[in-house]
Amino acid sequence: MTDVFDVIVIGGGHAGCEAAAASARCGVRTALITQNRSTIGAMSCNPAIGGLGKGHLVREIDALDGLMAKAADAAGIQFRVLNRRKGPAVQGPRAQTDRKLYRQAIQTLLAETANLEIVEAEVTDVRAEGERIMGVTLGDGRTLNCSSVVITTGTFLRGVIHIGELRTPAGRFDNPPSIALARCLDEFGFSLGRLKTGTPPRLDGNSIDYSRLETQWGDSPPEPFSTMTRAIRTPQIACHITRTTAESHRIVRANAHRSAVYSGSISGSGPRYCPSIEDKVVRFSDRDSHQIFLEPEGLDDITVYPNGISTSLPAEVQAQLLRTIPGLETTRILRPGYAIEYDYIDPRELDVSLMTKRFPGLFLAGQINGTTGYEEAAGQGLVAGLNAARFASGLPPAIFDRADSYIGVMVDDLVSRGVTEPYRMFTSRAEYRLSLRADNADERLTDKGLEWGCVGTARARVHKSLMKRLTTVRDFMRSAVATPRALAEAGIAVNQDGVRRSAFDVAAQPENTLGVLCRIWPELADVETPLARRIEADAKYAVYLERQREDIERHRRSEALKIPGALNFASLSGLSNELKAKLQAARPATLGQAERIEGITPAALALVAAHARRHLREPGPQN
Ligand code: FAD
Repeated sequence: MTDVFDVIVIGGGHAGCEAAAASARCGVRTALITQNRSTIGAMSCNPAIGGLGKGHLVREIDALDGLMAKAADAAGIQFRVLNRRKGPAVQGPRAQTDRKLYRQAIQTLLAETANLEIVEAEVTDVRAEGERIMGVTLGDGRTLNCSSVVITTGTFLRGVIHIGELRTPAGRFDNPPSIALARCLDEFGFSLGRLKTGTPPRLDGNSIDYSRLETQWGDSPPEPFSTMTRAIRTPQIACHITRTTAESHRIVRANAHRSAVYSGSISGSGPRYCPSIEDKVVRFSDRDSHQIFLEPEGLDDITVYPNGISTSLPAEVQAQLLRTIPGLETTRILRPGYAIEYDYIDPRELDVSLMTKRFPGLFLAGQINGTTGYEEAAGQGLVAGLNAARFASGLPPAIFDRADSYIGVMVDDLVSRGVTEPYRMFTSRAEYRLSLRADNADERLTDKGLEWGCVGTARARVHKSLMKRLTTVRDFMRSAVATPRALAEAGIAVNQDGVRRSAFDVAAQPENTLGVLCRIWPELADVETPLARRIEADAKYAVYLERQREDIERHRRSEALKIPGALNFASLSGLSNELKAKLQAARPATLGQAERIEGITPAALALVAAHARRHLREPGPQN
């Protein structure tokens, strides 16, 4: 094994795998270091990929030739597009996955990646000389050298698992925590905090009585995540739905003081949008029932994941609770649910390339930055891995913009605002969401990825031919016109105002699918379903997108005004102490980033803008 790399990635979770693969795709020598090779690509919690907002991230990772979408397609055992009845911009592709197949798919994809070496070891130290990153030290004392390091250690930094009153140091179930590395990051002076998350008990599927439960099937045919997947070949299965009862809630309330979350033994904040059953029962006391999805963990695995009852109640209380839930009265617990508390680093320590401001060449991605979720981790991993490779190659960073991608929204939210609870993606976080649809991620990002060097030749070929086909169909639809009378004769209702309309304009009406339009334009009959859906969405949103364009241009102007790193916000007169502290902590790199800091006022922004402009005109000692 060589001991010199361009990029070293610490961690083989969702962030680490995307980071290592993206860096290697850029052509630089990359090492992925993790304690246990066989856990690479492990799903610590729910066996599913995608969902609302998260599905957008998966499609964006795919557009940049990342791994997650391809692995989910290989391992998906139930695919569903969520929010199908709502507008295309807020629909979210999701797949229930076979945990083992997912891990295998990720490991196979990594094994096929050139320039990538997997090293099985614990990293105990990141070595730096002054501010310069030199490499890492392993648990056995070996040292590896590199130009940039990406840390993606998830919930492992000083992780502690809680089950009722029981506390066990662990990075996740059955995995030791990372203590030495946490100490090293402390010594580097990073601002660390504590967060928590939880997981439900795992059940023996053979002990569940499905006969009285609602069955839920996925979409047929299943829709793949990746542009590179032709069809889903994994067998598809059903999930089941049950609910908590009044008796379940009584048990939770009676024992809430024994839950780690409520007894006060966990100090960190938990994910508000993925609450434990204790949280749900206490916070939503007016509800007498909560839905539980019973999700099989694999095709040849009896384990069932009861989505909706994550808990840190004592194991015996978890058993009592399950006995009150229809279908689970005699179920056997394979592993109790637990909460985990861990260190994270304030993401305001990072710039938009996910590089730390303290140590050029040191990048952070995933749950260590205060996020929760595989997709959020993977999206950051890709950004950090790509930029670590660019840093090692002496290239400028690849920047993701809020107006271009959910990845851009997430990175900007994290580095500008920091987190007070685990950050999870939602479509509502994206102000330009009408143009950031899951189905058009390739149009938004693949050409950029080609420019950055992280998109391979196979995808480049597929992308080129897909874009050509889209352009042909769109051009046709913009140029093909019909009179209102001809449209009416074909059974397509439009105002009889004598104005000729293009096929694209006619498609703006919700009922006018391409299937309907081919009554008058038979050329549209052979447009493939995913392309047809994408063009229908374009047509339906066209008028709103036109209005949004102005907002995007304003946003880009703010992003273009750079705030010099040397600007000392604390010495700006006219700013309140609170705003000075917030600006100093976030150290926004652009006026746009400053604009998004919580509580910032227009007057404060004008002041910052004036100083930034003056700074740019007058280089030299500042303030
Ligand atoms: P991880 O997937 O945790 O990967 C970390 C990697 O770093 C591992 O490979 C580990 O071996 C490696 N590592 C750590 N320290 C070292 C070291 N010193 N040297 C070498 N390698 C190291 N997400 C949700 O969306 N919803 C939920 O409800 C939810 N609940 C969760 C409950 C639990 C109990 C846990 C553990 C996680 C939960 N998650 C949930 C979060 C989800 O699992 C993570 O967000 C996601 O896995 C984070 O990915 P990551 O790559 O940042 O870290």
